[in-house]
Amino acid sequence: MFLRIDRLQVEMPLPKEADPVAAAAVQELMGGRFGEMTTLNTYMYQSFNFRQREKLRPYYALIANIATEELGHIELVAAAVNGLMNGAEPKGSTSNGDAVFQGHFVPGAMMKAHVAPGPFSGIMAADSLGRPWQGDYIFNSGNLILDLLHNFFLENGARTAKLRAYQLTTNPAARRMLGYLFTRGGVHAHAYALALEQLTGVDMKKMLPIPNLQPEQIPESRPFLEEGWHRRLYRFSTSDYDEVRMIWQGDALDGSGPLEVRDGPPEGGPQFDLDAAPEAFIPDYHPQEILEMAQKLYQKAKG
Ligand code: MN
Ligand code: MN
Repeated sequence: MFLRIDRLQVEMPLPKEADPVAAAAVQELMGGRFGEMTTLNTYMYQSFNFRQREKLRPYYALIANIATEELGHIELVAAAVNGLMNGAEPKGSTSNGDAVFQGHFVPGAMMKAHVAPGPFSGIMAADSLGRPWQGDYIFNSGNLILDLLHNFFLENGARTAKLRAYQLTTNPAARRMLGYLFTRGGVHAHAYALALEQLTGVDMKKMLPIPNLQPEQIPESRPFLEEGWHRRLYRFSTSDYDEVRMIWQGDALDGSGPLEVRDGPPEGGPQFDLDAAPEAFIPDYHPQEILEMAQKLYQKAKG
C-alpha cells in the first residue's frame, strides 16, 4: 500500500509567468514512451508480478522502492506543467494549427494535449503530441535479469528524453526540474547496473553514464550533484525495503564517493497553489461560497 505526503519531492519555484512552450516540452516526460508514467508503471507491474520475493528480496525491494520514487516524479512533472500553464490564456489558433497563448505560439504538432480538449490546460496522461500513454510501454518478462536490463535501458532512454526536453526550453523552472529528474534517473540507472553486476559479474562501469554528459552541459544538475543526490537512494517506506542496502552500497561507479541509503523520503518542497481560470469556468461554482464553506468546515474540524 502507499502513504501519501502532500509535498513535492524537491523544492521547485512556481514559474514566474506562463510558458506554454516549456509546458509542451515537459508534457513529453509524463506520457511519452520514455516518460515517468512508463518508468513508474514498469517497476510497479514488475513488483506486482515478482515471484519468490523472499528468496530474492534485495532485487524485489529495489524495484518496488524505485517504483515509489517514480510516483513522486509523475507528481513533479504534473506540477511543472501546471505551473507553466498557470495564467496562460488561450487566444485561439493560427491557420496552420498552432495554438496561441498571449503572444506564445505553441506548434500544433507539439501540444494537442493542452489545446484539443478545450480551454482546460492541465497535465494529461499523454505525450507532447497529445497521444495517450500506453500500457504496452510496460516491459515485464518475469525474468529477473532481463527485467533489470530493460530497466537499465529505460532509465538511460529516459535521461535522453530529459535532455531533449532540456534543449527545447530555456525556462528556468522547467530546467531546474529537469536537472533534478536527470540526476535521479542517473541514480536509478546506477542502481540497476549494480544489481546486474551482482547477479551476472558483468562490468557495467564500462557502459555508464549513458548519455555521457558532463555537468556543464546541464548546469541545473550541478546543485544536486554538489549536495550528493546522485549517490543517495531514498527508502520510500516507514518500515520496509531496507534490503536495498545490499545493492546500493560501496563506492559510486564513477568514483565520486560512497553510496548512501536514506531512510524516509526527501524533505521536498511545497505544492503549488494555482490561480483560478475563470475563462475556463474553473472552479466556477460560486467561488466565494466555496471559500466560505471550506473555512466553516476547517473551523469545525479544528474546534
Ligand atoms: Mn523518474
Ligand atoms: Mn527513474
